[in-house]
Amino acid sequence: MARRLLIAGNWKMNGFLADSLADTLATLMRKKQDWPFEMVVCPPFTLLHYLGKIISGSGMALGAQDCHLKGSGAHTGDISPLMLKDVGCTYVILGHSERRMDHGEGDSLIREKATAALGAGLKVILCIGETEAERDSGQTLTVNQTQLKGSMPVAVDVDATNLVIAYEPVWAIGTGRTPTNLEIQEIHAFIRKELLSLIGKAAEGVRILYGGSMKPGNAGEILALPDVDGGLIGGASLKAEDFWAIAQQSPSL
Ligand code: PEP
Repeated sequence: MARRLLIAGNWKMNGFLADSLADTLATLMRKKQDWPFEMVVCPPFTLLHYLGKIISGSGMALGAQDCHLKGSGAHTGDISPLMLKDVGCTYVILGHSERRMDHGEGDSLIREKATAALGAGLKVILCIGETEAERDSGQTLTVNQTQLKGSMPVAVDVDATNLVIAYEPVWAIGTGRTPTNLEIQEIHAFIRKELLSLIGKAAEGVRILYGGSMKPGNAGEILALPDVDGGLIGGASLKAEDFWAIAQQSPSL
């Protein structure tokens, strides 16, 4: 099954109304209709509604960086999947290592959020990845296997194309370090194999993104790996020229 390359920008806690980043990207996207990649920007909650209007009609999608597992109610400070749909989101990132660490999010909570998000009609970018200590002690595959199994939404058999896995080694995020291309391919192939055992043939439609210090200088070779279906990009997604240069290295361009 052909999987469309996904180039996703995780802006984290960055960005203001006055910034021109989304506008610049939308202008570039509008130059053509049939880009061989799908692009999504995931700004902070404060910018979602506004940016939804800025990028409207550009072909670029909007995503959030987290959501609550409930649809509404007494959850001060939280945002529900339905609220994200309401402001025009198509995607939501869940289980990012910064949320796992900063907010103590574990696999079972992430699974509940992912199930709720899919149920609300969002596409889920589910993040997994090992720490440096886990890598050094030879646990890379088992850690990713456990996180995948534990945080996988229960409703995934509904439509596997709504589920995206982002393999993000924690030690590569924001550090300028990356695994070798061989390691990335091996881990992505392992994740695909695990997906097969979890959801059967639908696994072939699930996109697996690489995330961790992806930049214009290394994107071409990473995106060309057979089991890499795109990138989740942090730092380099904050500069329009870098993010665009990464997208332009899609193998079919
Ligand atoms: C991320 O945090 O999702 C990420 C991949 O960050 P960076 O590209 O900055 O390493």
